[in-house]
Parts: sequence; C-alpha cells; structure tokens
Amino acid sequence: MALATLSPMLLTLKPPRITVIGAGMAGSDAAFAAANLGVHVDLFEMRPAKTTPAHRTGSFAELVCSNSFGGEGETNAKGLLQQEMLLAGGLVMGTAHATRVPAGGALAVDREAFGVRVTGALKTHPNITVHAEELTRIPEGVVVIASGPLTTDALAETLRETVGENFLGFYDAAAPVIDADSVDMSVAYRKGRYGQAADYLNLPFDKEQYERWLEALTRARQHTPHDWENLEFFEGCMPIEELARRGPDTPRFGPMKPVGLEHPETGERPYAVAQLRQEDVRGQMWSLVGFQTGLKWGDQKEVLRLIPGLQNAEVVRYGVMHRNTYLNAPKLLNPELNLRAHPNLFVAGVLAGTEGYLESSATGWLAGTNAARSVMGLGPLLPPETSMLGGLVRYLATANPENFQPMNANWSLVPTLAKRKGEGKKERRMRAFARGREDFQGWFETVRAVQAV
Ligand SMILES: Cc1cc2nc3c(=O)[nH]c(=O)nc-3n(C[C@H](O)[C@H](O)[C@H](O)COP(=O)(O)OP(=O)(O)OC[C@H]3O[C@@H](n4cnc5c(N)ncnc54)[C@H](O)[C@@H]3O)c2cc1C
Repeated sequence: MALATLSPMLLTLKPPRITVIGAGMAGSDAAFAAANLGVHVDLFEMRPAKTTPAHRTGSFAELVCSNSFGGEGETNAKGLLQQEMLLAGGLVMGTAHATRVPAGGALAVDREAFGVRVTGALKTHPNITVHAEELTRIPEGVVVIASGPLTTDALAETLRETVGENFLGFYDAAAPVIDADSVDMSVAYRKGRYGQAADYLNLPFDKEQYERWLEALTRARQHTPHDWENLEFFEGCMPIEELARRGPDTPRFGPMKPVGLEHPETGERPYAVAQLRQEDVRGQMWSLVGFQTGLKWGDQKEVLRLIPGLQNAEVVRYGVMHRNTYLNAPKLLNPELNLRAHPNLFVAGVLAGTEGYLESSATGWLAGTNAARSVMGLGPLLPPETSMLGGLVRYLATANPENFQPMNANWSLVPTLAKRKGEGKKERRMRAFARGREDFQGWFETVRAVQAV
C-alpha cells in the first residue's frame, strides 16, 4: 500500500514500547529479543553511576565471578540450553561464542571482550534507549524486571509491596537437590512422620554410619562468604554443618530426628534419618530436608555420599548459603514468565528463580520475547517441555513452593526417556539432548515463521 493512502492517524502511530529493568545477564537478552521484534525498549541500568557489591564495571551482562557458561558436551544439560539460545539468536550466547577462550569441555569467554560486545550491541540498537539510572518504582506499561540477585533495596521494597508475602529471600539457604534415579531404593523407604501421608523418602542411619557421616561433615570445608554478604541465619534455617558444631547429637535431635519414622518392614527405629522431599511435579528431583549448607561443592558431595542410600547420588543442585534476591516463582509466575496477578509484569533471571548466567540469559530471552509479543497483540510463547528452557520455566511455575530455591539447568527438568536395553546413562542423555534440540528448533522455526507474517 502506498504511504499516501494510509490514514494520517496510522502514520503517527508510535512503535509499541516496553521497559526492561537491569542490563545484566537476563535484561540484556530481554532487551535485545524485544528490540529485534520491532518493539521500542527503554532499558534502565544503574551501573556505573551506582553499582552493586559484586559488579566491578559498567559493562552490560557483566560476569560477576567465573567466566564460564558451563559444559558444552552433548550429554550436558547446560550444553543443551546453550544450543537452544544459539538457535533462538540470544545475545549472550551469540556473544559468548564470538569471544570464547579455550576451556576444555566448557564454554568460557574473554570477559572484557564479552562485556564490550554485549554493551555495544545494546547501546547501538536502533530500537533501544539506554537510561543510565536506578529505578526505584516499577513504571506503567509492560515491564521486564531483571534486576538480579543484588536488586537495590528501594526496588526490592517496591517488589515486596507488589507481590506481598510471596517475595522471597535476601539470601539463599538451599539444601542439595538429588536426582531421583540416583537414590538407592533398596535402602530408602517411603513414610511420613507419625503415620502421616508417605510423601517422604527416608534414608536410615545406624550409629556407626551416623558417626562416620558426622566426622566427614565436621571435617568438610566451607565456602568463604564475601564480607558484604554478612549472613545472619535464623535458628530455623541453620546450616547442617553449624548444627553439627553445636554437638554430635544436635542434627539427630533436629532435622534428622528418627522419631515416628520406624522402618515399615522391621518396625525398628533408626539411629538417625535423612529425609528427601519431592521438588518437582514429576518426582525427578528430591531435596534433603533441613540440609541447607554452605560447604564447598566437592566436600559437599563426599558428605552426601556417606548418607545411606545416596552412595551414588547425583547432585542436581548443590546447597548454597549466599545473599540473593528472588521471588517465590511457583506462587507467582506463569511459565511464560509474567506474574499471574500482574500479567503486564514479566520477571527474568535470578529474580525469577533461576541460578546461573546461562539460565538467567535464557529466561531473559523468553521474558523479553513475551513482553514484546504482548504489546504487539500476540499471545505468549512457551518452549516445548522436552527443551531445557521449556523444562526450566515449567519448573519455576510448578515447583514445590515450600522452601523454593533458585534452579539451574539439569536433566531432571525434562521428561525422562524410557531406558533402552543395554543403553547406558551417557547414551540416554545423548538422546535427551538430541530430542530437546530438535523439538526446540522445530518449535522456534514455526514461531519465527508466524512472527514474520
Ligand atoms: C557474587 C555472585 C557470584 C556469582 N557467580 C556466578 C558464577 O560464577 N557463575 C554463574 O553462572 N552464576 C553466578 N552467580 C549467579 C547469577 O547467575 C549471576 O548473578 C547472574 O549474573 C544473574 O543474572 P541476572 O540478570 O538475574 O542479574 P545480574 O546479571 O546481576 O543483572 C542485574 C542488573 O540489574 C542492575 N540493577 C539492579 N537493581 C537495579 C535498579 N534498581 N535499577 C536499575 N538497574 C538495577 C544491576 O546493576 C545489574 O546489572 C553469581 C551471583 C553472585 C551474587
């Protein structure tokens, strides 16, 4: 149609707009995805004028600690998410590949070159206006909130007012999460305390096993928290190693109390019990009740594997104790990453309950895409459940809200494939990897074709 035949009203129509708060891992991908769909983005990033205790530069998507996005191999859950973000044209993943440095089987980057490129791509994008300022209130309209684990106090307070009691944490006190397949079910038994519903998996200790485990626990090394984290724990949220320091019997009079958990076959009461509680709807992930811990990951694994029934445990997510700001996603979020009670507000990154650079950028891509689609009058997208991103966002929306802790990419997030005869774990993971990549690619090509119409 010739321009002259368009009505004057249409000619003056402005492009739809959204706001993105934070140009970290999630906000950078959110802004880029939305801008590439033709939507105008107001991107607010307070650094370098005001900084956080962990950031050091004014670069967007600054890598605050390690320079790695995780393993790449075709059996690796992070590797699958990396592939999905490459297929989707994610800014962080594309830039990571362009600035990579040798790192064995992992995707690591030259942090300075990476930061310069991400910042340049956003600052020069014709559809993005960068505002170098802190936001303390959530603006009107469609907004992606991606202000991260160190969200400023004023904005955190606004968020708390918006979502009420489901605002979570100023720190993580997370217990390790175990892959169900790796629990020895000839040792574990299902039972609820005092005859309540048999929702828990119980791992019984005899005296000797308990003492061996306790000895390893008291020997294990702890992460050293940053000064600024200044963690003070509530009594009810004490790390397991701190309980052990208070006395050898303190854990077994606390979270490892065996009372009411007699073995269903023998009727005997164990000396102590570690309990596993289901974390996801499919029952593929189980967390250790009361085992929040700040132990170094290598030492943590050793201690966990001394728990009867966990001798081959695969840790899906290690326990951590550090400062963090995030929402209780299962109580608040749709899998499309907007708040159920405020559909115009999208959340991404650590704030939405993910953990890790890669996971943050991937949820940023989805939140930015869906925010843009909403102002374009299009419905939200949800990647297939067999893809890592699809599995992750479904987990956020449906996980157990009690004690919810941020989650990283792992194989328990996607439906398990049935075992083939003679097939090992490696082959099964390769099939899950191929399935996820293929499903994501098919889905994304359909979406892109429709968006282009
Ligand atoms: C100390 C520390 C170390 C970590 N190390 C690793 C690691 O090695 N590997 C890993 O995979 N993950 C790590 N993480 C976890 C997490 O994956 C990263 O923090 C990741 O950067 C989170 O992405 P994000 O987009 O949610 O937040 P960020 O990347 O932190 O981005 C949030 C952005 O919002 C800005 N901002 C905050 N408040 C406001 C406001 N009110 N107005 C405007 N801008 C605002 C911040 O300046 C920041 O740029 C670490 C976390 C912390 C705290």
